[in-house]
Amino acid sequence: RYVLVTGATGFIGAHVVDNLLAKGFSVRGSTRSAKKGEQMKAARPQYADKLDFVVVEDFTKTGVFDSFMEGIDAVIHVASPFFLDTTNNEQELILPAINGVKSILSASAKPGSKIQRIVMTSSFASVVDVSSTPAPGFVYTGANWNPLTYETAVDPASTSVIAYRGSKKFAELAAWDFIKTEKPQFDLVTLCPPMVFGPVAHPVADIASLNESNASLWLVADGADPLPGARVPAWIDARDLAEAHVQALIRPDAGAKRFIPASPEPFSYEYAADIMKEEFEWARDSVTANYKGGVKPQASYEVDGATVARELGVTYRSFQDSVIDLIKQVKETIA
Ligand code: NDP
Repeated sequence: RYVLVTGATGFIGAHVVDNLLAKGFSVRGSTRSAKKGEQMKAARPQYADKLDFVVVEDFTKTGVFDSFMEGIDAVIHVASPFFLDTTNNEQELILPAINGVKSILSASAKPGSKIQRIVMTSSFASVVDVSSTPAPGFVYTGANWNPLTYETAVDPASTSVIAYRGSKKFAELAAWDFIKTEKPQFDLVTLCPPMVFGPVAHPVADIASLNESNASLWLVADGADPLPGARVPAWIDARDLAEAHVQALIRPDAGAKRFIPASPEPFSYEYAADIMKEEFEWARDSVTANYKGGVKPQASYEVDGATVARELGVTYRSFQDSVIDLIKQVKETIA
């Protein structure tokens, strides 16, 4: 079986690639960077015959995937802009997210396509309503949608965080709309993870190139003061998220569902700081002392990660393992 993974040279995409390869799939990764594709291939010599990369530079053009679908049985669509240092939110975040979905879905629906399932990385950003304070004990599930309007998302006065939330919501909606209106031969599964942390499997040249979510954890290790504030209290390790993607691809019953892969353990950057100080001697000097330590994170709402554990058979790693594995790797090989 041959799976196309978009965003394959990114943080989550590379873990998805590794999970598929370990299960015996052949993988075609799409990337904007031929160099990163070559680096990933060179780092996996044992999979030389099972892994290839294609370069798709610009999502905003239509038909960019059409010539790369030959022989592909399934798609995991991970790619979408996730950075917050923008100059034009609509052009850099929202349109590429939506057009990327349209491009990959229409390429997958072309006559002759054998594709039966598409798994898409959406985000908890398309689920959470940051404008409301949920009642105590409230649990977000895959039935919830962020109420943000398109007008607010593209408003130049909106922050890049708001625009990013819109990019994920409207890209995911574009995917469900495609299924409804085009009735393609494949079905769709969307995954809406909250913050994703953990060691990297993709090429990271330097600290400045670390992906957005892990960069926040590294900031803590590097002495951020004040510590970053957690926008959501929920998270998942990238290795567990990769397993959720692949299980969502191979389990027939997952079809047409929207899942939230999320650890049951809430997180905070204060808790991350405690873990780093406890584990690494060097971090006792670098991590700021200017915070209240020893406090387990309290979440103002819950997130239904249990459905993924039950229906996709995913076991969640601890926040401690995720933080230690990333920070050790960054300190020893990147910083
Ligand atoms: P990365 O920045 O590491 O990966 C993003 C990937 O998307 C990269 O492979 C990148 O390609 C590709 N990409 C970005 N912009 C474009 C574009 N304009 N055209 C084509 N490709 C593009 O971040 P993550 O791995 O964390 O993010 C992957 C997905 O997971 C995204 O959909 C993101 O929204 C989602 N997500 C991430 C969370 C997190 O906390 N990390 C939380 C929830 C969802 P290239 O490698 O070629 O640069």
